Amino acid sequence: MIFVWGRKPVYSHAGYVADYCPVCRAARAFSVQRIGMAWHLWYITVTKGELAGYQRTCCDCGMVLPMETGHYTRLSAEQLPLVQLEQTTNPHLSIRHADALAAAARMREAPLLLDESERRRQIDAALRLQADALDEYESATRLDREVWWSIGGAFAFCVVVLMALRQQAPENMDNGFIIAFFLGLGAVAWQLSQMGERFLQRELLPKLARSLAPLQPRQGEIDDAMQRLHSQGRKLAKRIDSTRIMQSLR
Ligand SMILES: [Zn+2]
Repeated sequence: MIFVWGRKPVYSHAGYVADYCPVCRAARAFSVQRIGMAWHLWYITVTKGELAGYQRTCCDCGMVLPMETGHYTRLSAEQLPLVQLEQTTNPHLSIRHADALAAAARMREAPLLLDESERRRQIDAALRLQADALDEYESATRLDREVWWSIGGAFAFCVVVLMALRQQAPENMDNGFIIAFFLGLGAVAWQLSQMGERFLQRELLPKLARSLAPLQPRQGEIDDAMQRLHSQGRKLAKRIDSTRIMQSLR
C-alpha cells in the first residue's frame, strides 16, 4: 500500500489586527492566520501543527502578507470598526507607516504631479509585491477548486464507465477502464496546467490593478518597470506583459 505522508502547513484563524495595506494603500482590518506545520497522511491532518509563524490577510482586497506578531499589542477576537481595531491592536500604525500614508495621500490628490522618481518607486513596489506573491504561490503545492472538481469528476466518470461496462459488455471492461482512466487523467492534467493562469487572472492582476490605479500609470512607465523586473529575473515578468496590466487597469 502506498502511503503519502509528510508535513504541510495548516492555516487556522487567530483573530484580527489593523495594519497598513500596500494594495489598498490605506489602513485596513486584517484577519490573522496561524501557520502550523502538521504531519499529514494523504494530505489529511488532525492537528493544528507546530507553530511556524503568522500571516495577515487584508479584509478588503484579500492580499496575504507576512506578519511579525511583535508589532501588535494584541490580537482582537472580533473584527471591530477600523479606528477601534487600530487603537486596540496597533496604536502606532499611523507613526510606523507615516511615509506610506503620506505618499498615498499625495497620490490620491494629484497622482500626475508626483515626481518621476517617486512614481517609478511606487510602480516598482506594487509590481515587486505581486512578484513575491507569485513566488510564494508557486513554492507550495496547492490545488484550486477546479482541479479538485476535475479529480472528483474523473473518479466518478471511471466508476460510471466501470459499472456500465460490467452490465453491458463485461468482456471490454479492461480496455474500457483504461480509456476512461486516461480521459480522466487528461482532464485533471488540463485543469492543472490552467491553474497558474487562473491565479494570475483571479488573484494577482486585480490586486496589482488596485495598487496601481491611484497612480494612473502610462503604458511607457509600465513597460520600463516590467523591463526592470525582467532584468531582476523575476518570474512575474515572464508571466504577464505591460499590455495585460494596462487592460486590467481599465
Ligand atoms: Zn488591502
